[in-house]
Amino acid sequence: MTIITNGRLITPEGEVRASLAMKDGKIVRIGEMTPSPDDEVIDAAGCLVYPGFIDGHTHLDLPVAGTVTADDFASGTTAAVAGGTTTVVDFATQYKGDDVLNALKTWKEKAEGKARANYAFHMAICDWNEQVRRDLPALREEGVTSFKVYMAYDTALTDEQILDVLTEVKKFGGVTGCHCENGGLVTALQKQYLAAGHTDTSAHPLSRPAEVEAEAVNRFCYLGRLADAPINIVHLSTELGLHEVRRAREAAGCGGLSAHGISGGFRIYVESCPQYMLFDDSVYALPDFEGAKYVCSPPLRKPSDIAALKGAVMSGEIDTIATDHCSFRFDTQKQAGREDFTKIPNGAPGIEHRPAVFMKIFGDALTPSDYMRLLSENPAKVFGMFPRKGALIEEADADVVVWDPEDAWTISAANQHQRVDYTPFEGMTVSGRAKYVFVNGILAAKDGEPTAAVAGQYIRR
Ligand SMILES: [Zn+2]
Repeated sequence: MTIITNGRLITPEGEVRASLAMKDGKIVRIGEMTPSPDDEVIDAAGCLVYPGFIDGHTHLDLPVAGTVTADDFASGTTAAVAGGTTTVVDFATQYKGDDVLNALKTWKEKAEGKARANYAFHMAICDWNEQVRRDLPALREEGVTSFKVYMAYDTALTDEQILDVLTEVKKFGGVTGCHCENGGLVTALQKQYLAAGHTDTSAHPLSRPAEVEAEAVNRFCYLGRLADAPINIVHLSTELGLHEVRRAREAAGCGGLSAHGISGGFRIYVESCPQYMLFDDSVYALPDFEGAKYVCSPPLRKPSDIAALKGAVMSGEIDTIATDHCSFRFDTQKQAGREDFTKIPNGAPGIEHRPAVFMKIFGDALTPSDYMRLLSENPAKVFGMFPRKGALIEEADADVVVWDPEDAWTISAANQHQRVDYTPFEGMTVSGRAKYVFVNGILAAKDGEPTAAVAGQYIRR
């Protein structure tokens, strides 16, 4: 057995001072215990012990915009475990003409044998048809319980199709997420700015204003309400969008996780990401094309949006914190848009730094139990993995992070494991580091460095 002693365990019931024993990939005991000479003992004095953190929104090995994301499942999950994330939920993507079962097979092959963190897949449905409808039960059997639709990009579905997806997914208790931006409006605004000769990165946020998100959030909430199905709004970035969520929750008398928990009917879950609570859109005016490092969609917003999102985290209106990790090299891939901001691959890295950065943003304003819920328990619940994941309880999987809240260090591209030549958080000093990270009971990282173990498994939900 491996026994973690002297730590403060952050359990579903609150903080507990006890030892935790792991064996054969499971948490076998929590309580007082005397280690035998055969046991490996991890001293967690001065540390918090969390259930492994779960990133519910990553894009690894994703072909997009004529290129492929810089991180694949090997480098992406190496970075994940280095930062304390033991499970990622990535997006298997069904392209036009493909079927969803084949898409899942493709993504499983991308990850198999390479992943240091556990992995599951949402299915991004980009070509809705009768075949996909027939395949959904089989996909459910393969362990896929969460889905994603787009309202923007060439992967967008129509409102009618989204309603159909919501209705079908609801039948087996799944949840559907949506990239809420009105793609038609984005295209129109991009054309306007380009025609006016406004081709640099500062046009990126102008072409995707808050209204574009809020309108889509509003529409997705109504679609969820019509289908009486649970929905997940991914990467919420604006105060205006938040108002739409509040209005819709109030009108239907339904909250997110904190208000009502999980159920099959209409629920609005909300995800946001640390970058939207840290940076504002002034970064897009940086010289030397530096703004391209922050080109993601939705874009970074105004200080007032940052304040609104932070308030929503504090009030429990935001259920989960993910990264939307989608990395592209600055020296090569991002350069594709030097003359035309619409050609910059959209996305930024973050899979390694989410726990430390999020805790830096909120500090003592949130408790360790709040961090545990937002970074682990809630994503496990929304995506059908609780309590096997997301909880320090006996019989749960032994995904465990021993977190040293006093370990101060500086985030830099020079010390990261993400396979990309920059980080948006360059130079940020954080206090808190994953001291020991266990994936299925196996030590996957220590003091921010991965071990040789490749212990990640596919999670059939
Ligand atoms: Zn995304």
